[in-house]
Order: sequence, then C-alpha cells, then structure tokens
Amino acid sequence: MTITIALSKGRIFDETAPLLKAAGIVALDDPEKSRKLILKTNHSNVWLIIVRASDVPTYVQYGAADIGIAGKDVLLEHDGTELYQPLDLNIACCRMMVAVKKGFDYAAAIRQGARLRVATKYVHTAREHFAAKSMHVDLIKLYGSMELAPLVGLADAIVDLVSSGDTLKANNLKAVEEIMPISSRLIINQAALKVKRKAIQPILIAFSEAAKKNGMPLQKKISERWDISL
Ligand code: ATP
Ligand code: MG
Repeated sequence: MTITIALSKGRIFDETAPLLKAAGIVALDDPEKSRKLILKTNHSNVWLIIVRASDVPTYVQYGAADIGIAGKDVLLEHDGTELYQPLDLNIACCRMMVAVKKGFDYAAAIRQGARLRVATKYVHTAREHFAAKSMHVDLIKLYGSMELAPLVGLADAIVDLVSSGDTLKANNLKAVEEIMPISSRLIINQAALKVKRKAIQPILIAFSEAAKKNGMPLQKKISERWDISL
C-alpha cells in the first residue's frame, strides 16, 4: 500500500525533512536539485509529491495524496472542510500581519472610517479580519510581491506573512496589526486514514513524537479524536 505525501519545496520541504527523518523516511532526491515532481524515498511504499504550497490541500482533499503539509494561511484560504488536521507541526512559523507604508497613519485612517484599499494573496482571511473590526475595505487580490502595492499606489495596506520583518523594512513598510500566528499543519485525507490507517499511523506517531521532542505543542487530543494510540 503506497502512502503519498504532498508538500512544497523550499521552507516547507526543508523544515519537514527532519520530521520525515524521525519517521525513518528520507527522500532519494533533493527537490531543489531534481526536476522530478514525484520523489521516491528509502521506503518503497512512501512517495513525496512536490506541488505549489497552495495546491497541497487540493491534492489531499481529492485523495491524490494521502497526507499533506500546508501552512495555516493556505488552509484558511482553501474551501474544502473535509480535511483532517491532527497536527500542528510548528514549522514554517510566521505571522499574518497588516502592513502599511512608513508614515501612513493606520490608526488615524481607521478612526476616520477611511475606506482602505488592501492588497493581499489572503483575501478570505483578510475579509474576515476587517469584517470582525467592522472596517470597510476594498480587497485587491495579488499572487505575490505584496510589498510593492503600497509603494506604487495600488493599495494603502497589505495583508502578508511576516517573519523577521526584513522584507517590510527593505521596502519602507511597517507592520501595524497582527492577524494571527501561522505555522504548518499535517493534513490527512479522510478516506485514506480509514483505508490506510496501518501505514499512516506510524508516520503520524513519528511526526508527533518529533514535534513533542522539539517542545512543540500538539494540537488537541489526536489519540482521542482519531482513535490513534500514541
Ligand atoms: P508560491 O511560492 O508557490 O507562490 P508560497 O510563497 O506561499 O507559494 P513558500 O514561500 O514556500 O510558498 O511558503 C510556504 C509556506 O511557508 C506558507 O504557506 C507559509 O505557511 C510559510 N511561510 C511563508 N512565508 C514565511 C516566512 N517568511 N517565514 C516563515 N514561514 C513562512
Ligand atoms: Mg513565498
């Protein structure tokens, strides 16, 4: 029985590799060097598939992958609700923030009830955030390089992921509001968990043990909710 794990290259792959290793799984190719999108591992029955970060939930939802690793930011924008999210892996940690150009008085704009233009890749999360604050905003969907939008007058503010803040600083922007902390989650296809439980369970256990060792908080009671003995 083959287990397919969907993940994106770059930071998610880099930060997942130690967790995979803890589960005894090592990729036979380096996704940064290889053009292969299906990576075999030292376990003949475990495959890794390399997809766009935002496509991970789709592959898992349709069962093209049994397991996926995806940022909370991605999961919040994804429609499907039929994904198990048993583990917060506490990797690829950053914060979803509102940022504006240095010198822009965000607080004053809010006080005055100004209708702000906000550029973001995270339209769903941004809409919910501003609605909860009863702020009227016009959202502009972008697919990347959000930092540019306030600099060229496309938007007053952006909603983006921030870790060190160096990119904001380099572009003369400042963070003015935190929306939520972000980390990556392990997601599982529901049917796969039922049918392939025997093969998936050891991977889940190893991931959660590795997460525990790193002092990472486990999300909820995995064992209870999915009848997995840890
Ligand atoms: P793509 O490159 O396909 O457009 P992406 O830019 O979202 O997608 P990555 O930059 O690899 O892809 O980000 C993958 C995940 O890593 C994000 O979904 C998010 O959860 C997390 N992430 C993004 N930026 C940061 C950051 N600066 N620090 C830490 N984690 C981050
Ligand atoms: Mg990126």
